[in-house]
Amino acid sequence: MIPITLSWFVCLYLAVFLAAILILWIGYEIIRKRKANETTRNRVFCRICGSRYTETSTDELLICPSCGSLNERSAEEGF
Ligand SMILES: [Zn+2]
Repeated sequence: MIPITLSWFVCLYLAVFLAAILILWIGYEIIRKRKANETTRNRVFCRICGSRYTETSTDELLICPSCGSLNERSAEEGF
């Protein structure tokens, strides 16, 4: 077996522990952002009448259920 001192063992243990936390953190952050994108992408804010509605279709232009005007998906701001 490779001889290892206590200080090296502590350093190695801390490095592995911190790397594991960092990897978990990045993974959870990626999942959280992906979920947030999915939920905000379906919400549309109408510029004409000001109503907010949810649209799950893949079209870029979405018809407002209140006033019938077309809205862009990227027009949503202020959430
Ligand atoms: Zn509208």
